[in-house]
Amino acid sequence: FLSLSLQAKMSRPVQARRLEGIDKNIWVEFVKLAATYSTVNLGQGFPDFPPPDFLKEAFVRALSGENHMLHQYTRAFGHPPLVKILAQFFGKLLGRDLDPMTNVMVTVGAYQALFCCFQAFVDEGDEVIIIEPFFDCYEPMVKMAGGMPVFVPLRPKAPKDGKLMSSADWQLDPAELASKFSERTKAIVLNSPNNPLGKVFSRGELELIADLCVKHDVLCISDEVYEWLVYDGKEHIRIASLQGMWDRTVIIGSAGKTFSATGWKVGWTVGPNQLLQHLRTVHQNSVYHCATVAQEAVAQGFQRELELYGKPESYFVQLSNELQQKRDWLVQSLDAVGMKPIVPEGTYFLVADISEFKSDVPDVPDSDEPYDSRFAKWMVKNKGLAAIPLSAFYCGANKNNYNHFIRFCFAKEEATLKAANDILQKWKREKTSP
Ligand code: PMP
Repeated sequence: FLSLSLQAKMSRPVQARRLEGIDKNIWVEFVKLAATYSTVNLGQGFPDFPPPDFLKEAFVRALSGENHMLHQYTRAFGHPPLVKILAQFFGKLLGRDLDPMTNVMVTVGAYQALFCCFQAFVDEGDEVIIIEPFFDCYEPMVKMAGGMPVFVPLRPKAPKDGKLMSSADWQLDPAELASKFSERTKAIVLNSPNNPLGKVFSRGELELIADLCVKHDVLCISDEVYEWLVYDGKEHIRIASLQGMWDRTVIIGSAGKTFSATGWKVGWTVGPNQLLQHLRTVHQNSVYHCATVAQEAVAQGFQRELELYGKPESYFVQLSNELQQKRDWLVQSLDAVGMKPIVPEGTYFLVADISEFKSDVPDVPDSDEPYDSRFAKWMVKNKGLAAIPLSAFYCGANKNNYNHFIRFCFAKEEATLKAANDILQKWKREKTSP
């Protein structure tokens, strides 16, 4: 019996090769730390305020209304009312006729849309260009598909005298970007507005990327989940609308960010059928479809937004106004204590320079862990304030080049931002009066 049970123990390696080196995940680690220690959580990107009433009501109607078929499976590539309204909405934004059945696919959040893209387009050895700092999942997802991520950084320029730095001061070097394109390049990932910096790429910057994509016949995976969260009158430009780009771009969006309901996990892709047909192949052989009631409610949310498009009552207009105000509060709080903020042009996020606070945090000279990561852990444990180290948004080789910044999420209730301000003010007082 004993020998049988010894034999029954597995001795062969069980892990598939594609998982090598991608087992660590910043969110798993920092979400746990925030849950254990934080009193104020400005870490992971989600609102702590509710979604709008019209969206919650639509969900309740879908859940308890007469159409009990909303509790059953729906069409694999998107619940018909949702793909129809998305085709109408994005058709209007892009100025082209979109077919709901072939130009739109609904996914389990933008996360699954990204996964479908990498699985559908990236072959063993293909290179995928990723602009640093980047939403961290791009790198492991490219690797899981057998591809090679190739990184190119946004480089910060010093701001004009006395001014706070803006996310617009972080720019691509055109020659450096061009040098990353080769015949091995299959795709570039663009994320505008960008997580974590909040950078909104200008038309000029997008044209630079678009020209290189066309010249080298490269695909563009355009992660636009923060498309409505753009401030100071800036415009979100869709790269798919630039010359030569529609045929080679997949647009990715998220109801989580669009309607402040990140837990619903409804996302979508919009693009030409010759690209989306391959996403459908991955999707039908993996998750198949996402929750029907959530899709129905999001469809109703978009119906409302289409009717109110550009009007002051539009949620998209109101949300960006509210978030701009929240951004300004956090900018002021951080600036007042000397944790210099980089003013974001969009998104939920703001990156701040922690250099002036270094003396407070005990250093571990021989640690492999980037300084900002140790700082963020110390801060949540000792000050109760959770944030995410910027190095988490860089590849391994570049983590230590950008290790004196942390990212805060300001999509939070006024009371939460005030509590963060109180922590920062108290910390500052303790620093100046030992
Ligand atoms: N892309 C970016 C840039 C993100 O910040 C996020 C969420 N943090 C996602 C994609 C994933 O979105 P979803 O929650 O809809 O899966």
